Amino acid sequence: MASRAKNFRRFKIRLHRERAEIQTLLATLQSPEPEPGGLPIEHPAEVAAALYDHEETLTLKGWLRQRLAEVDAALQRIRDGTYGRCEVCGMPIQRARLEALPTARTRVECQRVLEREPWSGSAQREVHR
Ligand SMILES: [Zn+2]
Repeated sequence: MASRAKNFRRFKIRLHRERAEIQTLLATLQSPEPEPGGLPIEHPAEVAAALYDHEETLTLKGWLRQRLAEVDAALQRIRDGTYGRCEVCGMPIQRARLEALPTARTRVECQRVLEREPWSGSAQREVHR
């Protein structure tokens, strides 16, 4: 249990960092005179370009809020001890998937199923057992 929690420490740190970055960006988007130079994001040019288009700013804000909600949910799952487990089948999510997407809720296979058809309840039971 303790070692498992320790395994997720890195993800927790990453999630907290992403949360701070999103909040900084949201705060920047609120202010009339943004300072693109101070944005702690991997693609500052893209974000800066979006800042000058009001509609795109709204889209970006919506996306950032959604990301923030996903990050918060992932942090909550770490606290609850359900982090890293697929919400569909209950199996552990692949390490590589979590590395690529720390907010992932499902295994790649289950995500594909979910995207193909919304939750149907019966199809998922046979997937792993
Ligand atoms: Zn699954």
